[in-house]
Amino acid sequence: MNARHNPSEERLLAYAAGTLSPPEAVVVATHLALRDESDAWVRRLQAVGGAVLDDLTPVALSGDALDRALARVEVDGGEAVAPPPLNDMPELPEPLRRYALGPWRWAGPGIQVRDVHAPRDGDCRVILLKIEPGRSTPNHTHGGVELTCVLSGAYATDEGRFDAGDFEEADEAILHRPRVVSDEPCLCVAALDGQIRLDGWLGKLIQPFVRL
Ligand code: ZN
Repeated sequence: MNARHNPSEERLLAYAAGTLSPPEAVVVATHLALRDESDAWVRRLQAVGGAVLDDLTPVALSGDALDRALARVEVDGGEAVAPPPLNDMPELPEPLRRYALGPWRWAGPGIQVRDVHAPRDGDCRVILLKIEPGRSTPNHTHGGVELTCVLSGAYATDEGRFDAGDFEEADEAILHRPRVVSDEPCLCVAALDGQIRLDGWLGKLIQPFVRL
């Protein structure tokens, strides 16, 4: 059996504390939906965090705190808001089912990309990538952090094989060329900051045509 690739502890800690950027949190939540052991770890962490908060000494509220809280309740109306409708990909894990999806776009030979309309953080946003068997992405580095979770199929890099539920963290310092090694296409969700940067003369030539 292959070694499992999980998010770093720093990433999981930030997720548990609610300080991860929204696009990154979407990809981590997807990984947690697919991996029970990471999910259990984060739940334990959140329970510890809650216990620490319970132990803190209460601070006196400002005089108008109650008025402000009530004003907020009136604005909200207290009515339940219906969740957005499910999207057209029932094969997606639950954390991704209620985001609207853009059309599939060509992003290179055997590579298709689709925008996930989850909250952005500056240039960082969520995309779905579908790569055909035997195909690879161009050799590339990154404008910022790239978090990837495999949904189905598998790809390989110098770091090993990434199967469904596996999580890869890359950034400006990582040069890689994921290649699909499964018989079925590899479907991934990724939080990508900026554009990938293609390596080599061919990469520089096709860079303007590859927009993820
Ligand atoms: Zn990459």
